[in-house]
Amino acid sequence: MDNFQFTIVKKDGKSSARVGVIKTPHGEVNTPIFMPVGTQASVKTLSNEDLKEIGAEIILGNTYHLYLRPGHELVKRAGGLHKFMSWDRPILTDSGGFQVFSLNSLTKITEEGVRFQSHLDGSYHMFTPEKVMEIQHALGADIIMALDEPVLYPCSEEQASTANRRTVNWAERCLSAHNELRDNESKQPPALFGIIQGGTYPELRKASAEALLKLGFPGYAIGGLSLGEPKSATWEMVELCTDVVPQEKPRYLMGVGTPEDILEAISLGVDMFDCVLPTRNARNASLFTRFGKLIIKNSQYAEDFSPVDPECECSTCRNYTRAYLRHLFNTGEISALRLATVHSLHFYMDLMKWARKAILEDRFREWKEEFLSRYQTDQTNEENQMENT
Ligand SMILES: [Zn+2]
Repeated sequence: MDNFQFTIVKKDGKSSARVGVIKTPHGEVNTPIFMPVGTQASVKTLSNEDLKEIGAEIILGNTYHLYLRPGHELVKRAGGLHKFMSWDRPILTDSGGFQVFSLNSLTKITEEGVRFQSHLDGSYHMFTPEKVMEIQHALGADIIMALDEPVLYPCSEEQASTANRRTVNWAERCLSAHNELRDNESKQPPALFGIIQGGTYPELRKASAEALLKLGFPGYAIGGLSLGEPKSATWEMVELCTDVVPQEKPRYLMGVGTPEDILEAISLGVDMFDCVLPTRNARNASLFTRFGKLIIKNSQYAEDFSPVDPECECSTCRNYTRAYLRHLFNTGEISALRLATVHSLHFYMDLMKWARKAILEDRFREWKEEFLSRYQTDQTNEENQMENT
C-alpha cells in the first residue's frame, strides 16, 4: 500500500526549510508546494489547460461545497472528481469542517458530529467523521482530511480544550472509517491527513499534535491559524507543530497566505499551502508581482504599455499590457478576471519554484531576504501611490 510517499530531497542548512517530493496515485508533487483552490471543482475563471500551463501540480477541492452541489454520489458515478472535472494531476479535498463552521451561524456541535444548515437552501445536514470519510472517498481525491473543530480567535482555553478533545476523537473515528473504506476499494485509496488544532495555547497545540501522532497519519495539517491572531502567535504555534511532527512527515499549513507568510512558514519547515488570496485578489484587480501588490485599476496605469510584471513569463505578461488589463477591468470584461488570475497564480508557482531552488542551493535565508527587500520596498511605493490617486 504505497500510494503515498514523502521523500525529503534536501534540507536547508540555516533554517528548517526542506525540499521534498510527495508521490500520489495521480503523480508527484514537489514541495514546498502551493495548491490553487478549486472550491467547486474549478479554479475560478481558469480551465484545466490554463492550470497546467501555469504549472499547478496539485489543486484543492472543497468537500462541503461538492457535497451540497452536485453531490458526492453524482461525482462518484462520474468516475470520481478527477474524471468529473477532467483533471489528471493530484487533488486534495478538505474535510468540509471549516466551511461548516464559517458559513453557518446555526451550526450545532455534539460528540457525534456537526449539524448544519445548507447556506444554499437552509436544509439540514449532519457531518460526522464517518460521513466525511464516505464523502471524500466518493470524491476520490489523492489526499483527504480528517474532520476537525477549528476555534476562532480569540477563544477561551476551556473552549479550545474541548474542541481539541473532540478533534482528536474525530480523527480516531476518521481513521477507522477510512481504513474500512480503503480495504473495500479496488482502486488506489487516498492518504488521510490529521489536523492539529489547539488555538493559540502552546500546551494545547502540543497535546493535539502528540495525540494525532500516536494515531499515525501519513501527513499532518496545522489548522485554525491565520484567523486574526497576532503574527507572533501564528509563528509560535507553527514552530511548535513542526517541532513535534517528525521530519519524514509532510506538514500542511491550511489557508496561508501572503507571499511573506508562506516564506516564513517554509523556513519553519512547512511543505504545503493553500489559500484563496492570489485568485480572489486577482478577481478584484489586485495582482501579486515581484515588486509587491499592483492595483491594476489605478489611474497611473491608464497609458502604461508595459506588462503587469516585466520579468514574469506567464501568458498574460507575455501578451498584454497594464493599460489593456486596466481597460478590461474598467469596462467589466470577464476576460480581465481570467488574465489577472493567470498572472497571480503563475507568480505563486514561481515563488515556490524559487524557494525550492534556494533550498537546494543551501541559500534559502539569503534568498528570502533578497526577495522580501524587493517585494516590500516596492509594495510600500505601491501603497503610497494608491493614496495619491
Ligand atoms: Zn505574469
